Amino acid sequence: MASISENIIKINSELPSGVNLVAVSKYHPIEQLKEAYATGQRLFGESHAQELVVKAPQMPNDVKWHFIGHLQRNKVRQIMPIVSLIHSVDSIRLLDTIDKEAKRIGRIIDILLQLHVAQEEAKSGFTIEELLSLARNGEFCKYENVRFCGLMAMATFTDDQSIVTAEFASVGATFRTLREEKLFPLETFKEISMGMSDDWPIAVAEGATLVRIGTDIFGPRQY
Ligand SMILES: *Cc1c(COP(=O)(O)O)cnc(C)c1O
Repeated sequence: MASISENIIKINSELPSGVNLVAVSKYHPIEQLKEAYATGQRLFGESHAQELVVKAPQMPNDVKWHFIGHLQRNKVRQIMPIVSLIHSVDSIRLLDTIDKEAKRIGRIIDILLQLHVAQEEAKSGFTIEELLSLARNGEFCKYENVRFCGLMAMATFTDDQSIVTAEFASVGATFRTLREEKLFPLETFKEISMGMSDDWPIAVAEGATLVRIGTDIFGPRQY
């Protein structure tokens, strides 16, 4: 089995320039994160607030922590001082809480809006229609402490690559529509977070700028 550092080097060599690797370290012990760090990895993705809060102080402070999992509103306060980007903003209520909490501690927080394009009901996010209509109604204009940096999505878990391709393509198309209609500030609305260990090459082909990879770097998770 290849080492963590070999895995990171290999993936980076296959990513086009302009696409950044988020090392998804959930359920992996801190020693493995340190090995990734030693290879030069600085972006780490975690999906549980409690785990993030425990791990963050154990890593050097030039690590950028991305929150990628479903975020409960009562956990926003805990993660707000730690995270540099929240990928998984999946409702207006969560957005309200994030904005309020950012205001409270005097920061502007970068976020991505999560689109629900997969077939599984359990995956969360705005539908494409919902997001377009909210944006066209100006619903996102009132947030003073949130910087809208782009979109995030997960594809259906399936071996059928045509389904995954179509879903990622629909995210890319929505991103372009939102930019063409100038519904978010063009200078910040630039990222598309999509692609995991099983499907990241398809995501990159469809315009991903951030890929979130765990298993292909660290091996199976240690639950
Ligand atoms: C766990 C997770 C990943 C990484 O998945 P792998 O298949 O291990 O690469 C990516 N995105 C999200 C939202 C996750 O929860």
